[in-house]
Amino acid sequence: MPVSAPPEEVLDVLRRQDPQIADVLLGEARRQAETLQLIAAENFTSPAVLATLGSPLANKYAEGYPGARHHGGCEYADAAERIAVERATALFGADHANLQPHSGSSAVLAAYAALLRPGDTVLAMGLEHGGHLTHGSPANFSGRWFDFVPYGVDAETGLIDYEQVAALARHHRPTAIVCGSISYPRHPDYALFRAVADEVGAYLIADAAHPIGLVAGGAAPNPVPYADVVCATTHKVLRGPRGGMLLCTAELAERVDRAVFPFTQGGAQMHTIAAKAVALGEASTPAFTAYAHRVVEHARVLAAALAAEGFALTTGGTDTHLITADPAPLGLDGRTARARLSAAGLVLDTCALPYGDGRGIRLGTAAVTTQGMGAPEMAGIAALFTAALRDEPEETARVRAEVRELTRSFPPYGR
Ligand SMILES: *Cc1c(COP(=O)(O)O)cnc(C)c1O
Repeated sequence: MPVSAPPEEVLDVLRRQDPQIADVLLGEARRQAETLQLIAAENFTSPAVLATLGSPLANKYAEGYPGARHHGGCEYADAAERIAVERATALFGADHANLQPHSGSSAVLAAYAALLRPGDTVLAMGLEHGGHLTHGSPANFSGRWFDFVPYGVDAETGLIDYEQVAALARHHRPTAIVCGSISYPRHPDYALFRAVADEVGAYLIADAAHPIGLVAGGAAPNPVPYADVVCATTHKVLRGPRGGMLLCTAELAERVDRAVFPFTQGGAQMHTIAAKAVALGEASTPAFTAYAHRVVEHARVLAAALAAEGFALTTGGTDTHLITADPAPLGLDGRTARARLSAAGLVLDTCALPYGDGRGIRLGTAAVTTQGMGAPEMAGIAALFTAALRDEPEETARVRAEVRELTRSFPPYGR
C-alpha cells in the first residue's frame, strides 16, 4: 500500500536551518527507499503517523493519566490518550490498555514491576532459543533483578518443548511465565501456557512485541484472553510509531498503570501516544486486515523460496511475518551472510540458533508488504539472496541494481 509523503518536502524547513542534520535525515530516507528493508522488527509508518510525531504535541508535559495529570493544559493530551486507550482495548478485546511505555522493553519492565518483586523466579524462553534481552539476559535489568529459568525448543523440530515448560514450571514454581520471542516463527500455544501457569499458580505474561500487528489484523492468535498482561511494541508489524503498549485484565489495571507511571517512567510522550492512536485507527480497518494476512502469505512464499535456495529454515517454515534460517548448508555463517546481503542492498539481521554452531539470519516481510510488493517479488528476492551470497563483485553490483529497480517500482512513500 504505497503512500505519498515525499520526505524531501517534509525536510525543507530543516534543510534551510541545519543542513548537516538534514543531510543525515535525507540520507536515511534514501537508504530506506533504495535498499530492501527485511529486518523483521521494522516497517514503514504512514504519513499520518509521521505527521503526528512531528506535531507540537511533542512539546507537552503530561505526567499521570487522563483526568489526573501533574500539569496544567492537558485537555488535548488527555483526549489523545483516551482515544488511544479506547482504540487499543476495542481492537484487542482487552479490559485495559496502557499506551505510555516508551518502548517494548519499557513495557516488559513495567509488566515485571506490576507483578514481581526482585528475586522472584520467572520462566521464559532462553536467549539462545529466541528470548529477548528482557527475558533474563545477564546484561539486562531482568537478569540482574530476577531469577530466570530458561525453557527452549526441541532439537529436532525447533518447536517449543511444552513438556519441558511444564516440567520446569512444576519444579521451580515461578511467580510468572513469559511467552513470546524475537525469532520464533510460530505462534506460542497460549492456552497451553495458561494451563501450565494455572497449575503452578503463576502469572502469564505474553510478550507479543512481534506478532501484535498480526493479531490486530486477525492473522495471528490473540494472547489477550489467556495472558494476565500482554506486552507489545507499536512499531513492528503494527506499523505505528516507536513505542510500547500494555494490555491487561481489569483486575490488574491499576497495578499496571502505577508500574508505568510513576514507578518506571516520568512524563508520557504525548505526540507518540497520539501517533499510536493514529496507527491503532489504521490497524482497525479492513485494509489492515488484508495487509496482515498478506504479510504472513509473503513470509511463507519467501521462506519456501529460501529453502529451495538451500537455507535451513528454523521449524521448517513460518506462520508469522518472520523467518529464521541457518545458511550453513550454503557454507556460510549468519554474520558473513548478513554482510554480503547488506553490500547488495538486502538489509536483515543475524540471530541466535538454538542448536547450530554459528548464527542464523532473521528476516521479515512487514516492510516490503507495506511497500506493495507481492508473492512474485518474494520469490525474486530469494533468488537475489543466492546471487548476493556468491560474493562476486559483478553479481553484488547486479543485485544492487535489481534492488534499486524493485524499490523504484514499490517506493515506500510514493513518488
Ligand atoms: C522488540 C522486542 C522487545 C523490545 O522492544 P524495544 O522497543 O526494542 O524495546 C521486547 N520483547 C520482544 C519479544 C521483542 O521482539
